[in-house]
Amino acid sequence: MPDRQRVLILGGTSEAVDLANAVTDRFDITYSLAGRTKVPSIPKNATIRTGGFGGVAALSAWVRGHDVSLVIDATHPFAEQISANAANACKMTGTPRLRLLRPAWDTVPGDSWHRADDVADAARLLPLLGRAAFLSVGQKELNAFAGLRAMRFLIRTVDPLNSLPLLRAERIIGRGPFTLEQETALMREYKIDVLVSKNSGGNKTYAKIAAARVLSIPVVMIKRPCFPSGVTVDNIGEALEWLKLREQKTT
Ligand code: NAP
Repeated sequence: MPDRQRVLILGGTSEAVDLANAVTDRFDITYSLAGRTKVPSIPKNATIRTGGFGGVAALSAWVRGHDVSLVIDATHPFAEQISANAANACKMTGTPRLRLLRPAWDTVPGDSWHRADDVADAARLLPLLGRAAFLSVGQKELNAFAGLRAMRFLIRTVDPLNSLPLLRAERIIGRGPFTLEQETALMREYKIDVLVSKNSGGNKTYAKIAAARVLSIPVVMIKRPCFPSGVTVDNIGEALEWLKLREQKTT
């Protein structure tokens, strides 16, 4: 048994980094990333591992093999596969798991949201709402919009894209958070008349939603996928409480 409990934090979000930074003095933290971003944000004083585990059985073996006593799934609300894998691996190994899931956004007066069930549904709605879309979705979702050949797109990514399946698209590089002023100016500059966004939640990427409201631009808001049942908290304070209880149980 190691001196300090080993905790695996599945990351890729700012709250995962913040949580890890808050507990590295009390727990032996391994912070896990998929490896999608070239220069990711990472916590200090944690062990960083990068890349997929290789599915549920391999993740279970990793958890056992590294004496992991607690798992915190702090991945993005749309990272459906790794969350499902984590839930199953924790079931298989009997490892307590916490889901840290930031609250979803909701409309406020002045918003014009068109809710989409998934990316395909968003692509179906889009031509009914505008001609120039700011597509604030991930690279793997862009294919869904490839058939919309009459539309113009703006794509912003952290790293340059390897390929782009869209006929008329302008690409820019940028890493948030962005301010309301920046997002408003960007949408004005590219003459955007509709925004497509996942309902990611949180403050760090909300400015584009507020900018759409300021500019009276409709938003196609893609709803979150279903996530596995289990203990879920929506803020770091509650995640710290959960960890504290687990810490007391084993000391
Ligand atoms: P995903 O579809 O749920 O996961 C696909 C596969 O990538 C998983 O099966 C797993 O591979 C690997 N993986 C994902 N997250 C991992 C992690 N934290 N550590 C180790 N392996 C991981 O995930 P995604 O939507 O591609 O997102 C990838 C990462 O980017 C996540 O960590 C997420 O927090 C972050 N992110 C996602 C979004 C988004 O919109 N989806 C936005 C911002 C950040 P194996 O099956 O081989 O283990």
